Amino acid sequence: MTKYIGAHVSASGGVGNAILNAEAIGANAFALFTRNQRSWVSKPLPQLEIDGFKALLIDRGFRPEMVLPHDSYLINLGSPDEETLQKSRAAFFDEMYRAQQLGLTMLNFHPGSHLNKISEEECLDQIAREINMALSKTEGVTAVIENTAGQGTNLGWKFEHIARIIEGVEDKSRVGVCIDTCHTLAAGYDLTTEMGYQFTMEEFERVVGFKYLRAVHLNDSKKGSGSHVDRHEVLGEGAMGKEFFARLMHDPRFDDMPIILETPDPMRWADEIKWLRGL
Ligand SMILES: [Zn+2]
Ligand SMILES: [Zn+2]
Repeated sequence: MTKYIGAHVSASGGVGNAILNAEAIGANAFALFTRNQRSWVSKPLPQLEIDGFKALLIDRGFRPEMVLPHDSYLINLGSPDEETLQKSRAAFFDEMYRAQQLGLTMLNFHPGSHLNKISEEECLDQIAREINMALSKTEGVTAVIENTAGQGTNLGWKFEHIARIIEGVEDKSRVGVCIDTCHTLAAGYDLTTEMGYQFTMEEFERVVGFKYLRAVHLNDSKKGSGSHVDRHEVLGEGAMGKEFFARLMHDPRFDDMPIILETPDPMRWADEIKWLRGL
């Protein structure tokens, strides 16, 4: 079985640098931002940078399907505010288009927040409509919904939320899911015991389906089950318990997809990846 493990590495100085940063920590997968994640607008990627990225990716032996771009934190496809929604729509399309330009196959994003102004159902259905719009204007890139911790009014913490969004997406071949393990625990799915692990995975299969699983964010959690607090921790040093990581590494349902660390200390990523491979 093959596990593709990496981290969300820096792309500062150009997207190609993310490849070198991933290589330096012994990764065979990675995540990156392809634009400034704190700004609504970004300059288009220069063709030279795109060509350089594609060539370097092949040269360093990474598979494009193991690269998982993450969208900007500002984007809220479920926003009840018309102005924010329009800005989100434009930025989300740009994120999808950048992934396409770079020859990548996925874009990872947080579904959105209702801000207590619309119902959960309205918000989820709006997110699905926005995904449909972005898919119709791009090619070859799958929209990968990340489950959340359920902080504030963020949706996507219940597997049912994700299932409802997928239901509203017309092209089911281009919608997928990224499970963030810290968010899953914080949302109230207990992953800390063998029984909890099996129950959570069965729930995911029953409600969403592993056929939609495209990626993992592998993080330990500072807070326990049901805290709804999104605080990542170094692997093995948080509430998940070390056995959890061994269980996941031995679970074939997580083969052949990017497994991405978003743990707080980049200096430890190389060791964390080594530790996972040794489990
Ligand atoms: Zn995440
Ligand atoms: Zn998080």
